[in-house]
Amino acid sequence: MPESLQANLEAVREAIRASTERASRDANAVALVAVTKTVPVERIREAIRLGLHTFGENRVQEAMPKMDEIGPAGVDWHLIGHLQTNKVKFVEGRFQMVQSVDSAALAEALDRRFQSALEVLVEVNVAEEPQKTGALPADLPAIAAVVASAGHLRLRGLMTIAPMVTDPERVRPIFRRLRALRDETSQQLGMPLPVLSMGMTDDYPVAVEEGATMLRLGRALFGPR
Ligand SMILES: *Cc1c(COP(=O)(O)O)cnc(C)c1O
Repeated sequence: MPESLQANLEAVREAIRASTERASRDANAVALVAVTKTVPVERIREAIRLGLHTFGENRVQEAMPKMDEIGPAGVDWHLIGHLQTNKVKFVEGRFQMVQSVDSAALAEALDRRFQSALEVLVEVNVAEEPQKTGALPADLPAIAAVVASAGHLRLRGLMTIAPMVTDPERVRPIFRRLRALRDETSQQLGMPLPVLSMGMTDDYPVAVEEGATMLRLGRALFGPR
């Protein structure tokens, strides 16, 4: 018996509202990306009917058949998982944003391949976990500079995946750090970087308190994978 998407969505919206209130932020400043990896097309259609319009997938190969089946439904797709340079050719015309750019080489490959503009976030491995994807904080300035100067890429901000912990308070410093890195990068490049994509099912209320403008939620909406 699948969980009620509508009830889950209402609970998520209420949690976002409560977190923005605690932080004196505007709840409308927090965008929701519904993460649909492993979620079948039928449930994605239900999400669209409920008004969700931005979806995140982490594998191009899994996403493509689902996108084709759903067709142009006025929705945006974000790539949130690691992208190999040899898969760059599948991104154009399908994804509106790639949140997981983590090297200058990948940025250059996307820029070469794209005719139109692609929105980009640089993914940062803030906690410097060895097994994780994402750029190390020390490499961020160079990668951000490459993205910012690429003619077909629009640098919009930063993304991070916080370490898995049982107490979300423990990752608060990670979110704070991403926000500080965003501020530094914005100053370095002399351009606004409005998007902070941080916060998943287990930690999003804390991420909102720390300034997240984009949440990527899978299980909180669709139930356990
Ligand atoms: C799966 C995934 C999410 C969503 O995770 P939940 O814990 O189910 O909310 C968010 N971001 C990325 C990059 C993911 O791979």
